[in-house]
Amino acid sequence: MSNCLFCKIVEGSIPSTKVYEDDMVLAFRDIAPQAPTHILVIPKAHIPSVNGVTAENSGVVAHIFEVIPQIAAAEKLANGYRVVSNCGDDAGQTVHHLHFHILGGKKLALEMA
Ligand code: 5GP
Ligand code: ZN
Repeated sequence: MSNCLFCKIVEGSIPSTKVYEDDMVLAFRDIAPQAPTHILVIPKAHIPSVNGVTAENSGVVAHIFEVIPQIAAAEKLANGYRVVSNCGDDAGQTVHHLHFHILGGKKLALEMA
């Protein structure tokens, strides 16, 4: 996806502050953090959103959820954290490459809407 911001971050043509990388997954700090720790975890392969997850590509989503606890431990989020994926306009998705926000480092507000 040549016009996708997060594909460009994967390629390295847009810089990011990486906190984790392997052959399938990249995690980097959000440019506009909403909490003391705010990390985005993405598949390296372009998937537009949760709605783009299929039987063929869901392995990377499982892998992301194996990696998230490792990142949380490295970030010392032992007191807890939130994982969020915004899907579509009503959720406020602004970057159309599947990503999971890890938010932590403070007591988070409970409002979901
Ligand atoms: P969404 O609103 O789609 O759920 O989340 C997109 C996130 O990407 C936002 O939290 C926004 O701050 C973050 N973001 C947008 N552009 C960049 C960028 O160039 N670099 C980084 N590291 N984060 C970005
Ligand atoms: Zn992309």
